[in-house]
Amino acid sequence: MLNSTLSYWEHQSFFGPAEVAIVGAGLVGLTAALYLKQLRPAWRVVVLERGALPSGASTKNAGFACFGSISELIEQEKRGDLQGVVAARYEGLRHLRELLGDAALNYQPVGGYELFRHEEAGLAAECREKIDYFNQLLAPVVGHAVTFRDASAEAGRFGFGGVGTLLKNEHEGSLDAGRMMRALLARVWAADVPVLTNCAAETLETTAAGPRLHLANGAVVEAGRVLLATNAFATELLPELAVTPGRGQVLVTEPLPDVQLPGTFHYDYGYAYFRQLPNHRILLGGGRNLDFAAETTTAPGLTDAVQDYLENLLHEVIVPGRRPRIDYRWSGVMGFGPALAPLIEWVRPGVLAAVRCNGMGVALGAGTGWQAAQKLAVG
Ligand SMILES: Cc1cc2nc3c(=O)[nH]c(=O)nc-3n(C[C@H](O)[C@H](O)[C@H](O)COP(=O)(O)OP(=O)(O)OC[C@H]3O[C@@H](n4cnc5c(N)ncnc54)[C@H](O)[C@@H]3O)c2cc1C
Repeated sequence: MLNSTLSYWEHQSFFGPAEVAIVGAGLVGLTAALYLKQLRPAWRVVVLERGALPSGASTKNAGFACFGSISELIEQEKRGDLQGVVAARYEGLRHLRELLGDAALNYQPVGGYELFRHEEAGLAAECREKIDYFNQLLAPVVGHAVTFRDASAEAGRFGFGGVGTLLKNEHEGSLDAGRMMRALLARVWAADVPVLTNCAAETLETTAAGPRLHLANGAVVEAGRVLLATNAFATELLPELAVTPGRGQVLVTEPLPDVQLPGTFHYDYGYAYFRQLPNHRILLGGGRNLDFAAETTTAPGLTDAVQDYLENLLHEVIVPGRRPRIDYRWSGVMGFGPALAPLIEWVRPGVLAAVRCNGMGVALGAGTGWQAAQKLAVG
């Protein structure tokens, strides 16, 4: 006898045994589901999602289709194979755009800018000196000789306050994260993969017959294989995984039709970021570095320290002298780890983890889903 209140029909069509059960309906879990159905059309695949909607970073992010500003790349190069990491981000964006199409994503090839205030002239000079070096390093990845250039002459065009240097990345873009997730959900359901929301996996058991997921609603899902795509929440099911949460806070202003900011904008080693949305609102996020300890959490929440910092950035730099009304505020949680590359590994018998996009999962997510599907489809 099954220990749940589910009907016979629900067991047959939704919760029955599957070749693959995917935990987590974020960008990684949903793209993995789609690629897996392309590779193994006859397999029964099911996606289990804790929230009423996918409720991780994929619906909370800033929608930057980016692969790194120069100050970020300088820091990241100290951690290893930078060219490989940027290639994975670039490939991931290619996968995402091919899978859903630019119209569905509202992808805009606007280019990205890194800002340096006058008092950051030292860092600006260090980054400017690296332009040729990074252009050469990234040319084989992006297929263009020039990725970065000094765009300081354009600073006046944006009306920023106190900005002395602007460095432009010609190949960045922006997208609509909400439309991305809607399009993905529609595609996954159309591929005959049920996405079951309000279905938290509470425990993951590995038996001789294969993995079993015990859900909060009492159902037990048996699967030949499980893909754990729970990102920042990964250690709740598998505590041994090297994934640390990092919360990001975001706000969106009232519409500001007199402000024109075409582009995506990065500041302070990428810890702050902003862009203007098509309806003229400004989306601004970041500030995690103000208090890493407080932001190392999976709990949703906003703090005065970060919100004040973001509002001051608006007032002093982005729309100097103005204090626009803030219409939306939210937080989301990213998964970080010791390496910049995502963790895509078999972690228990029959259990593959594909987690930890290190805050760049819009770029890395679809490529991570693609790699996960390749591994799941074997055998
Ligand atoms: C504020 C913010 C801004 C960002 N901006 C950008 C950006 O501009 N560009 C960029 O490239 N990246 C950005 N990112 C990062 C990017 O959004 C993430 O790296 C990416 O969305 C991760 O996708 P994912 O599928 O791995 O995880 P998630 O989207 O977090 O999905 C994990 C899912 O698992 C579900 N889940 C967790 N536990 C369980 C369980 N036990 N049972 C069932 N379901 C469960 C969650 O509800 C969630 O829906 C940002 C992130 C944040 C938070």
